[in-house]
Amino acid sequence: MHRFFVDPDLLKGMEHVTLPEKLAHQVRDVLHLGVGEQLTLLDNSGGEVLAEVAKSGRAGVEVRLLERHAGRPESPVRVILCQGLLKSARFEWILEKGTELGVSTFAPILCRRSMAGLEDAGPAKIQRWQRIIQEAAEQCGRSRLPALAPIRPLMHALNDIPPGALALIPWEEEHATSLREALTAFAEPGDPSAGQPASPLTVILFIGPEGGLMAEEVKLAQRHGVRPVSLGPRILRAETAALAAVASVMYQLEQLSHTD
Ligand code: SAM
Repeated sequence: MHRFFVDPDLLKGMEHVTLPEKLAHQVRDVLHLGVGEQLTLLDNSGGEVLAEVAKSGRAGVEVRLLERHAGRPESPVRVILCQGLLKSARFEWILEKGTELGVSTFAPILCRRSMAGLEDAGPAKIQRWQRIIQEAAEQCGRSRLPALAPIRPLMHALNDIPPGALALIPWEEEHATSLREALTAFAEPGDPSAGQPASPLTVILFIGPEGGLMAEEVKLAQRHGVRPVSLGPRILRAETAALAAVASVMYQLEQLSHTD
């Protein structure tokens, strides 16, 4: 079933709605959905609306809203990915794959070794990033869109760590604690040294840019309660490190925190 996020106002009230031009083109000219064929419309509330094509022509596409139901619930593990800003293609790859893996917030950060000029990502680039997130969410079956925070310096993100969150900074020079050990300690209830995990489980990950993190940035993060962790003996490219860390968090915590 084709799924599309639309402006929430479009799904308020009326039984028949006319699709916005861009979506109408997609439905009529790209997917060739004809009268009677169904699609799912999403308003980012977590709910889903089943609809069917009622009219389709050069003048536009009209659909009939059939029923509303709850969408697939979001992961009980809230992952905030503070990613050192990378060259666009690599960053866009993280947005797409991170959305599939369940990231709830993408927070691009500027680090000392971030490449110059990345910070002035204009409105067109931000719109493109949001479209990549939206298309990945439509494709992977999410009914809520991950948030995309504004680009900001590492320091600002460190001052914004949610209380009770597990804050981790994968660092290529960390050899004492692995990501698995940090997650196990966090997930094991009753382990006083790890403190009680807040619910929903929130994990905030700080990943360095192409040039890596500087020792003083890691020290600064530690002063904000962030734990350095290793992702293993090999030096991973930034985008690999980001997705490996997110997948590991979901693998280790998502099952644990399912309440049903
Ligand atoms: N120069 C390479 C690049 O162009 O992508 C590597 C950059 S650097 C290593 C990227 C970031 O990935 C690091 O700052 C760190 O956050 C993370 N990272 C990579 N390998 C890691 C490892 N083995 N353990 C922990 N973090 C790692």
